[in-house]
Formats: sequence, C-alpha cells, structure tokens
Amino acid sequence: MFCPKCGSLLMPKKNGSKKVIECSCGYKPKEEQNLNLKETVDDHEEVAVVDQEVDPLPTTAEECPKCAHPEAYYWLVQTRAGDEPETKFLKCIKCKHTWRNND
Ligand SMILES: [Zn+2]
Ligand SMILES: [Zn+2]
Repeated sequence: MFCPKCGSLLMPKKNGSKKVIECSCGYKPKEEQNLNLKETVDDHEEVAVVDQEVDPLPTTAEECPKCAHPEAYYWLVQTRAGDEPETKFLKCIKCKHTWRNND
C-alpha cells in the first residue's frame, strides 16, 4: 500500500491498542478504521481481496539495494512543484523493499 501523496510505503503503526496506517508526510487513508476492525472475515465473501500481494505495477530491470534481486516494480510520483522532474519509486519484487530513484 503506497501513499498517493508522496509515494512512500505505508506502514501500520501502533497507536495505543489499535493499528493506524499513516504516512510520514501526514497522509492517512480513509479506510484505516475498516482495516483494523476486519481482523476476522466471517460472513463476508471478501476472499477476492486476499490477492493484495499481486501488484499491478509495471516492472523494470533495477537491482534491489537490499537483496540484489534484478527486477523491481516502479511507479512515478510528481513531487510538489510542477517544474520538478517526476520521482521514480521502485519496489523489489522479491523482498518488497521500496526505494526512490531520481534520474
Ligand atoms: Zn506520504
Ligand atoms: Zn529486494
């Protein structure tokens, strides 16, 4: 899950007894409450959501700085100023490590 504002990987943080998904840039997804309550899926047929791991992002031949896997997903994020170049974010297919690449 990625922040639509800055492209960072969103990590669940503990906030008291519940988990909150919040980006370091301040972005919070609206559905965070639902996510927390749905620990057990009982009477809902939401099995289709299980393949969240299947990432629809395109891939590129970039080496992961963490595990050296030669292929990574990538996406572009336009940073605040419109005259700045887009930032390329990469996510390792293997270990899911995410990093940014300006070129
Ligand atoms: Zn963010
Ligand atoms: Zn990796």
